[in-house]
Amino acid sequence: MQTVEVAPGIFRLELPMPFELKHVNVYVLRDGEYFTLIDTGLQTDESRQALNQKLAALTVPVERINRILITHIHPDHFGLAGELRERTGAELVIHRLEVALMEPRYARAEDLVHDVAAWLSKNGVPPAEAEFLKSASMAAREFVSVVEPDTLLEGAERLPIDGTDIEVVWTPGHSPGHCCFHWPARGVLFSGDHLLPKISPNIGLHPQSGADPLDDYVFSLQRIRRLEVETVLPAHGDPFYDHRGRIGEIIEHHEARKAALVRLAGAGAKSGWQLAAELFQGIMQRNVFQQRLALQETLAHCQSLAVDGRLQKLVSRELVTWSAA
Ligand SMILES: [Zn+2]
Repeated sequence: MQTVEVAPGIFRLELPMPFELKHVNVYVLRDGEYFTLIDTGLQTDESRQALNQKLAALTVPVERINRILITHIHPDHFGLAGELRERTGAELVIHRLEVALMEPRYARAEDLVHDVAAWLSKNGVPPAEAEFLKSASMAAREFVSVVEPDTLLEGAERLPIDGTDIEVVWTPGHSPGHCCFHWPARGVLFSGDHLLPKISPNIGLHPQSGADPLDDYVFSLQRIRRLEVETVLPAHGDPFYDHRGRIGEIIEHHEARKAALVRLAGAGAKSGWQLAAELFQGIMQRNVFQQRLALQETLAHCQSLAVDGRLQKLVSRELVTWSAA
């Protein structure tokens, strides 16, 4: 039985995913006689069944779920939100910057593919590869249905729960409107994808990202570092405890990557695609989804370096290149 009470009245439901990353955690929070859900899992039969079974095992009647908090709109977090709201009538709560991403990403994806194609070409992806890469994330659409939220967040809101409050912490970086949910009375932080125990979340520069997502991300980590937290409950993997230690490791990892890029760009101006191939050795043999993430991740680091004056970003109508400052 995977369902566990990770803290009094807080239950972790591990839901399956057909990806390299095998599970996503959904949390159920007792709130008097009602329940709040944090994230939803994918919109797949497997995930829906697992969620139903686990709720039944906890004897949580679906109609008692009166609020759904969403960390961000990636399919593994937001996929079932539309369907669940329909079934429960729950209040759907999400940061307003995520809402702006929904329509282009899931409802008007053809337009987005067009923007992505232009962006790939500018970043040095050869036409043959770009043809595959541009629609690499189209498949994600089937795991989600678009739904209008009830309550929009900006950060710093307090949401009443069980006689106490959950505080919304806006943590842009992995996604522009990513939010963590801090429950001080319980010493718990629901960290979404912002802070994970084993992997570092993908931070990418792309047409739907913030303009300098890596610096946003690091700033958001500092915001989390200041919180008093006993237990971090992440969206992927097991609960963990030393959030400041983990934040330190992740910041070091990005610093090391930046230093590597400065070295690579020292040999002359290169496109993001060239740098990604050199930074992520072997990535070009992997699938198009991995290749696109590698490119986005490389560009996020280059952008941060250019903002800092450690790289030069040269832009023409056709191409963006990066070289030593
Ligand atoms: Zn995500």
